[in-house]
This record gives sequence, structure tokens and C-alpha cells, in this order.
Amino acid sequence: TMIPTVLPTYNRAPLTFVKGEGSWLIEADGRRFLDFGAGIAVNSLGHAHPALVLALTDQAGALWHTSNLYHIPAQHKLADALVEHTFADTVFFTNSGTEACELAVKMARKYWHDQGQDRSTIITFTGSFHGRSAAGIAAAGSEKMTKGFGPLLPGFQSLPWGDHDALTAAAADPSVGAILIEPVQGEGGIRPLPDQCLKGLRDLCDEHGLLLILDEVQCGVGRTGRLFAHEWAGIEPDIMMIAKGIGGGFPLGAVLATEKAASAMTAGTHGSTYGGNPLACAVGAKVMEIVATPEFLADVNRKAGLLRQKLEGLVAQHPDVFTGVRGSGLMLGLICKAPNLDIVKAGYDAGVLTVPAADNVIRLLPPLTISDDDISEAVNRLGQAATQIARS
Ligand code: PLP
Repeated sequence: TMIPTVLPTYNRAPLTFVKGEGSWLIEADGRRFLDFGAGIAVNSLGHAHPALVLALTDQAGALWHTSNLYHIPAQHKLADALVEHTFADTVFFTNSGTEACELAVKMARKYWHDQGQDRSTIITFTGSFHGRSAAGIAAAGSEKMTKGFGPLLPGFQSLPWGDHDALTAAAADPSVGAILIEPVQGEGGIRPLPDQCLKGLRDLCDEHGLLLILDEVQCGVGRTGRLFAHEWAGIEPDIMMIAKGIGGGFPLGAVLATEKAASAMTAGTHGSTYGGNPLACAVGAKVMEIVATPEFLADVNRKAGLLRQKLEGLVAQHPDVFTGVRGSGLMLGLICKAPNLDIVKAGYDAGVLTVPAADNVIRLLPPLTISDDDISEAVNRLGQAATQIARS
């Protein structure tokens, strides 16, 4: 047979990392890379953070798995912390962002079903990404993800990003029950929704009684300098999906919801064998303990300012390679003039890892624990990559 033993759905870089230390990854051949991808916004506290290693190994020595047939103390601890620090009254744990999307969709539909109303349609936006499940690809709607996988799950209406009139008209449709959006699009090219627009969305939802579902899988857990990105706009969602950063590298996601939005999700309506597993929640609770403090978040904001300033300088120095910087906090995108994949590759040669996104953008998503020196070093290496691109 010709097919690799690992199903070839990824175009992988010729890199094999064998060890991580803080913001650095070490290749099998010994080369050291500054990790400005952080596993696509996952390693929020870098690699091998001592407090996370301890939380995981302590739990590993005590108990790995029991199932949700029983109470799981670490799960309660993490749920309590998430409720304490957010709009939410209740939390369901998953193993990924995709699974969080599945439940967010089910929760919104069940809410309206139990209200006795046929309002199953969820408004979504072009350029969005909500995962690779049947609901996730139908929600995002892009042909790149859906082609060949039909019939798609019905009940999603995709609107052009930023088309205010289309949104106002769609929200008034009596079949619509919810709006689903990323406060900062990640895969879509680090496109932040302006605070005014998120406020406007909240108002629109209130006007028509719609549920506002935020996908903070990539932009949440301190990434933008607030614990959750929507806090910048001073609004609260009804339902929120999180994953990635909350587990710091251990697979963990969650759906957070208000009591009202979650009211239809009674015993037996949803479940997961692994969701809220003791190992995942022990790590998640420790991540929350570290990230959800004013000091930690203030430092993220300070470093975000530093990185952004240096990136503006980089763009100014290499106008033939980059055209601008956008994003929020430590979720930044370099808008490229040269092909973004070439720049990511040149970054490998220069020893810095970045992640491509749509719209010819490269994503910079360093660990939130990145040091000032490592920020400077990463931007130097990006400069080397840009020089290599300009020469070729
Ligand atoms: N939603 C957003 C905004 C994402 O960025 C992602 C992953 O990239 C997902 C959902 C899906 O999460 P996962 O890959 O953990 O299933």
C-alpha cells in the first residue's frame, strides 16, 4: 500500500520536536525554535510549565478516569473557577473545541424546542472556523471544509463578515434562534470583531430574543489580554465555547452558559465518556489559577504592546514582505505581501515557528508566559526570514 500509516490529512513541516522548555521547542537534531504558534494557541503557559507538570503528575498518581457516572472533584473545581470569573452559571466539559461546538449548537436548539418555538436556525459568518465535525463544518460553511462531505447539517445561515444590513435582516427572521461568532477570527486570518460590532450583536440578540454564542476556542483564556475576548466589548454571551488554552496542552474544552440558555439540558440530554476527565481538569484548574489573575493579564497586555510595537517596526523594515499587523493581545497576525506559506517556511530556517491563516496572514500566538527577551529574539528571527524571502 502507498498510504502512510498516519492518514495524510495534514501537510506537515519536516520538523520533529522532542522536547519543550517554556517558549522553546527542541528538534530531534538539537535545533532550538522559538514557538510563536504554541500548538495553535494551546500551550498558553508554554511547554513543561512546572506547575502544570505537577498538577498533571499528582493527578496521574491518584486517579486517571472514572466517567461522568460519578462526581469528579477536579471537574467541580474547574467549573467553579470558570463560573466565578465569567458570565456563566454552568459548564459542560469536552475534549476539544469541536465538541464544544456540537454542544453549543445542541443547547441553542434544545432551548428553543423547549420554549415550543421553531427557531433552529443559527446565524454564522464567512471566514469563521468552529471545528471539523458535521456541525462545525456546516456552521463555518466554507467550501474548503464542506466540499464532498454533504449532505451538510441544515440550520445554519452564513452571512458575509461585516455586512450589517444582511445581519439586521437575517436576525429578524422568525426561524433564527441564535448567532454564533468568534470575537477574533483565528483560522480566518486574525480578524478581530470591533468592540462596537460585538456590542451591536448583543443588542440585536436582545432585540429579537436570540442567544449569542461566542466561540472563544482560540481567542479565550487570556489570549487577548482579558480572560475572555468579549470582555473588551463590555458584553456577555449566553453560551460560550472554549478549548485550546484552557488545557495548556492537555485536551480540554468546555461550553459555558447562563442558567437560562442551559435550562433545557437536563439529565440524559448530553454526555461524553472523557469530557471533564480528572487529568484534563486538574491541569485546567491550574491554568485558571495562574491566568485568571489581574497581574497575569496585565503582563499579557504589556507584552502584547511590546510585541505589536516590534512587529510594526518589522513591517516598516520589510514593506515588500509584510503590509501590516492586526489582532488583539498575544493573538496577532502579520498581513503578508509575499505568500504566507513561504514566510512560515523561511521562519523554520530562522528558528521561529508561526502558523499560517486565511487572507495571506501568518499568526503569532506565543505562550502567554513569553519573556521580553524571547519576544525580541522572535522578531529578530522573523526579520531574518523576511530578508531571506526578499532575496529569493
Ligand atoms: N473554534 C475555533 C475558533 C478554533 O480555532 C478551533 C480550532 O482551531 C475550533 C473551534 C476547533 O477546536 P478543536 O480543534 O479543538 O476541535
